[in-house]
Amino acid sequence: MAIVQANIRAVLRSEATRKINFKYGSWIINEQAFTRLAVQLDQYRSSGNPLVGIKVSVDEDIPVWAAGEYLSTSDDIVVPKLNYGMDIIEKGVLLHECVHAIVDTQQYSTKMFDPDNESAAYIGEALFRIYSGAPINIDKSVSNRYEITIREVANRIAYLIKDSPGAEIKEKDYNSLAGSVLAHPKYSQKGWTRYSRRSMDGPMANLVNVFGAVAYLSLRKTSDPSFRFVPVRNVIREAVLDAAQAAKKP
Ligand SMILES: [Zn+2]
Repeated sequence: MAIVQANIRAVLRSEATRKINFKYGSWIINEQAFTRLAVQLDQYRSSGNPLVGIKVSVDEDIPVWAAGEYLSTSDDIVVPKLNYGMDIIEKGVLLHECVHAIVDTQQYSTKMFDPDNESAAYIGEALFRIYSGAPINIDKSVSNRYEITIREVANRIAYLIKDSPGAEIKEKDYNSLAGSVLAHPKYSQKGWTRYSRRSMDGPMANLVNVFGAVAYLSLRKTSDPSFRFVPVRNVIREAVLDAAQAAKKP
């Protein structure tokens, strides 16, 4: 695990990543968010407790098209091999998954949806590649026509907002990117729509967040409070989801 973890750390600390600074709806993807993520990765590593911080794991059976993935229920960045992240393409993928992890921890929005989560990650990846001096070469590195469209739109947005710290992605731009994400079978086959949400949000999530906040405050009295809120909230969220699933069964 050490190699890919070191690679993620290097990506998070890189000059290119530190330049990434944009706002997508209520999500803020900037240096502070990346630094916080690095702390969350360290927290899992030093505690070994799967409920604390954010994990990195290797799954050799990961679908070829996925390259990497982020599992929001278990707070897990999953890569296809132990030494993932050696070249600029793989580093870009790691950055992409890191944006998903940040979105997961910032999911306080009620307006952002699955295709937005994906769009934010593609914009982050495009910016990372541009700031690294190796912009994604759509002709050479992309073969799937749906992905070509996604990369083209993401690149266009990235060039629009680059070097404008805190730039807000305009609604028409993210809608166009979200549209090309949805056009890709790999996402539409997951049953995504423009307004679908993988993670729970809305009134139920607010209730869960209240429970999470109470748990956080009680933990805070007894132990180190740093960043425990997110895992605790997720644990409760999962418990509620399980309960909801169980209730649905006849
Ligand atoms: Zn993604």
